[in-house]
Amino acid sequence: MACGAGLSYVTRFAPSPTGLLHLGHAFSALTGFARAQAAGGRFLLRIEDLDRARCRPEWEAAILADLRWLGLHWPEPVMRQSDRGAAYGAALDRLAALGVLYPCSCTRGDIRAALSAPQEGAGQGPDGPVYPGTCRGRSMAAARPGDALRLDLGRAVALTGPVGFAETGPLHPGRHRVDPADLVDRLGDVVLARRDGVVAYHLAVVVDDAAQRVSEVTRGADLFEFTGLQRILQVLLDLPEPAYHHHDLIRDAAGKRLAKRDDARSLASLRDQGATPADIRRMVGL
Ligand code: GLU
Repeated sequence: MACGAGLSYVTRFAPSPTGLLHLGHAFSALTGFARAQAAGGRFLLRIEDLDRARCRPEWEAAILADLRWLGLHWPEPVMRQSDRGAAYGAALDRLAALGVLYPCSCTRGDIRAALSAPQEGAGQGPDGPVYPGTCRGRSMAAARPGDALRLDLGRAVALTGPVGFAETGPLHPGRHRVDPADLVDRLGDVVLARRDGVVAYHLAVVVDDAAQRVSEVTRGADLFEFTGLQRILQVLLDLPEPAYHHHDLIRDAAGKRLAKRDDARSLASLRDQGATPADIRRMVGL
């Protein structure tokens, strides 16, 4: 029984090739790899190159080189989101058929203007301004080229009923109930396909985690607050529920979260300065 459970454990590291990996990425990948090994399961890599304009092949090559240098390995072929347009299109079609998607022609300027109107209140969510709902109610049949597609989150949570998820990470361990009202307040009607046609991370991640049979999502604590939204999408799309392991974020000496632009902390530059994979493990507290 334990053996069967082990075989079904799958986690993944899902970097976006928009820059060099830093210590925070190393911690995430090493954590996922260690959890897969401990469970006798599998560690997968997925390249999240949805936004072609921001991704570069040389960064993808550097990511693979850094991860191999750290001693990690994964099955080939690696899933790349740029190959997954058909799966995302099918998911959008399904959401449209459920009546929870609508076309939106608002520009950022339109949204700013609507939010500055006194009756709207200036809702600021973790992902930017909370959309005031200007286009909500527009029918998908009236979608025009160049429209974004938004999730009608109020309708979505009404359809799903109670939703929860199991967290195995150190920060918020236990079973969590997704609070629909809080989700609607904080995130609002998120974009699932941008005006330029690029599919949103929240949609791609649930479609891909299901396709890769990920049983536990290992990722940074910064994404904890989006897990409720992703669970709602999973329920709407009839996708299995993974467990979530949100790990702590690696911060610099000043306590600031590392970002890809902090080249000085990149794995490549640490390696150039003579750091070994064992040094990297020590630096991230492993
Ligand atoms: N591609 C995302 C990132 O680089 C990871 C998302 C996830 O693990 O769910 O932050």
